[in-house]
Amino acid sequence: MYSKPLKPVLIYCLTALLTTQCATKSNDSIIMSVNGPVSVEEMGESLIHEHVLVDFIGADQISEKRWDKAEVIKVVLPYLKEIKMLGGKTFIECTPNYLGRDPVLLKALSDSTGLNIITNTGYYGARNNKFLPAHAFTETADQLAARWIGEWESGINGTNIRPGFIKIGVDRGNLSKIHQKLVTAAARTHLQTGLTIASHTGTAVPALEEIELLKREGVAPDAFIWVHAQAEKDLENHIKAAKEGAWISLDGLNDNNPDHYLQMLKNLKTYGLLSNALISHDAGWYSPGEVNGGKFRAYTSLFKILLPRLKEAGFSDKEIRQLLVDNPQRAFEINIRKIH
Ligand SMILES: [Zn+2]
Repeated sequence: MYSKPLKPVLIYCLTALLTTQCATKSNDSIIMSVNGPVSVEEMGESLIHEHVLVDFIGADQISEKRWDKAEVIKVVLPYLKEIKMLGGKTFIECTPNYLGRDPVLLKALSDSTGLNIITNTGYYGARNNKFLPAHAFTETADQLAARWIGEWESGINGTNIRPGFIKIGVDRGNLSKIHQKLVTAAARTHLQTGLTIASHTGTAVPALEEIELLKREGVAPDAFIWVHAQAEKDLENHIKAAKEGAWISLDGLNDNNPDHYLQMLKNLKTYGLLSNALISHDAGWYSPGEVNGGKFRAYTSLFKILLPRLKEAGFSDKEIRQLLVDNPQRAFEINIRKIH
């Protein structure tokens, strides 16, 4: 049903061979970390939606001058080391451009911890477009896609650090015109790069519209991660989207809500759709402008609270591995997923 994944990998590897080194054979499946390509086999247990730093100041005022990288590293490092101690190997950082995305900071943290860290390209339209740069309102979907594809091909902001997925964001309710444009730009970026699209979405109405729009653009729904799907109350909608092939990202886990996560995972399991589930905390993060970066939430509930609960509830080791290892591999591998 879908095209084979090799093309973007080949193109990347050919380019990489000319410059540095391609870490994988051309026919391997890879993810793109802030330190370059990594075989999916090396991903291990993965946290698919977390944050190191988020700055809600707005697109008109955001600047890397608002934080000191050394200070952020001091605050965040112990929390990342905790993940490592608990067995985690890959950390997917979901802070978009204009909200504090800092690839150089992420690379330093990856180098210090040995975690694979993945950053993103794309724009976040949720919260009423406060985090969109002025050009997002005037440019076409193709122009926006060209910017994002440029980050994939040439690196982010003059670095050689490449995005490993596309992060967009839309508001609840029907998709506005500008959010349709972001989804369209994401679809076209996907078709050129094989980068998976993770969209901050929440409820089902916009999620199902995004899936339809992607299909009209020729993108298969398994290239789409419905971010914050836990906000949808009607679990039938998880099933509906998963049956289309979309990823159901249950990503707000904390120490106090494992029952809700267990219920949502059991629902997917009942329908044989655990293959489409992703879990994470949406935790962290350093907040510029607050004393010592403000209150920080650890990335540990999954390992310490949810996993024992899943075992008690009869989830097998194989199913738990599927949630923590196999699904993140399939969700984030660089792979063009087309509808024929
Ligand atoms: Zn998030």
